Amino acid sequence: MKEGLHPNYQQTTIRCACGEVIETGSTKKDIRVEICSKCHPFFTGKQKLVDTGGRVDRFKKKFGLENK
Ligand SMILES: [Zn+2]
Repeated sequence: MKEGLHPNYQQTTIRCACGEVIETGSTKKDIRVEICSKCHPFFTGKQKLVDTGGRVDRFKKKFGLENK
């Protein structure tokens, strides 16, 4: 997929495997994910750190959920 030409940025819905639905803006529509900010240990504060390879960072970048 080519990026950066004319990103079709629009409102979209991310549906997580846990049932959480996140409304956000993305160039993709109707995204389905296995983890989200509600069910991932990194966000819930349990800090068991299953995440060792930057999966959360990649997740946030992918879906534009970085803190602003
Ligand atoms: Zn979830």
